[in-house]
Amino acid sequence: MVQDEGEEKETGKLLSVVVSVYNEEQALQDFYRETSQVLQALSWDYELIFVNDGSRDGSLSILQELSRQDSQVRVINFSRNFGHEAAMIAGLDYSRGDGIVCMDADLQHPPECLSRIVRCFEEGYQVISMVRTKNEDAGLIKNLTSSAFYWLINAISDVHFEPNASDFFAIDQAVAQVLRTSYREKVRFLRGYVQNVGFRKTTLSYEARPRVAGESKYSLKKLFAFSVNTILCFSNMPLKLGIYAGMFSAFLGIAVMVYTLFTRAGAPSGYATIVFLICFMFAMLFVVVGIIGEYIAILFTELKDRPVYIVADTCNIDHGKACSRIDSNASRPGNQM
Ligand code: UDP
Ligand code: MG
Repeated sequence: MVQDEGEEKETGKLLSVVVSVYNEEQALQDFYRETSQVLQALSWDYELIFVNDGSRDGSLSILQELSRQDSQVRVINFSRNFGHEAAMIAGLDYSRGDGIVCMDADLQHPPECLSRIVRCFEEGYQVISMVRTKNEDAGLIKNLTSSAFYWLINAISDVHFEPNASDFFAIDQAVAQVLRTSYREKVRFLRGYVQNVGFRKTTLSYEARPRVAGESKYSLKKLFAFSVNTILCFSNMPLKLGIYAGMFSAFLGIAVMVYTLFTRAGAPSGYATIVFLICFMFAMLFVVVGIIGEYIAILFTELKDRPVYIVADTCNIDHGKACSRIDSNASRPGNQM
């Protein structure tokens, strides 16, 4: 079943499939079996790059075993959990393919789409966004919050986000190089960059399957934090809120001043007005200070310039070196290509 490395396919093209893995021991074997079957039927060569994002279960040993059996399986093992996005970025950094596909390890992104993706690459497309038509696993709350998020971000940012675009996407080597060199923000939204770098772009639709095994690693809390960061990264609108809040409260203040001027004969009264005004002004002030705080936190994170990920060791990377240790730090092999 395993394709020999020496046996090149006639197109001479290479497809890199990047898979982020976090505690997926129950899904990995199924994923590997199904995906390699599809990949072997393609006209392109392939490499299957698994990024182990600090899994605490048996995922790493399964991956190491797969990499021993199959030379097209490569493993990047992080020193700890850095998150799904960091794992995709590492995968992009290490990919050598003419086309690169990012997908999840839980089979929610159907491997049979890979042949359509390769066809799009052959037609000259450079960015292929996979749009979900159905998500069997997402509940009502996840669907509603996701719609609200996309509505808001499209309303207040300059760029457009495809509402049902997923972490399932494909880009060619040129686009990957742009992402490697110019989009190294620490607080980021990779899907957003992919949709907004330009180049020849197309979308394909797919039906998300239910998770093959295990549980979703994204809690609502994680999703909320992720959405706030994305909005702040792609829009300065919240920062400008201070000006609007200021104008609104100034207008209200003047109205109250005028009112007080005309009703001062019957004083003392106006207790309710004072309480209302103080509460309102402070609420406004704290919201604005909070928003500024969020932006400062992002600036601080960027300024520290810590690595996006740290690789502890790799398997089948660097042409033939079976398993190697890499010094810490986010070495970016892609940059040297
Ligand atoms: N994942 C990861 N690091 C994390 C969380 C998730 O690499 O910190 C991987 C996970 O193993 C899966 C993919 O990212 O392959 C998507 O995660 P999940 O299926 O839990 O998210 P959902 O599909 O529920 O949004
Ligand atoms: Mg999933």
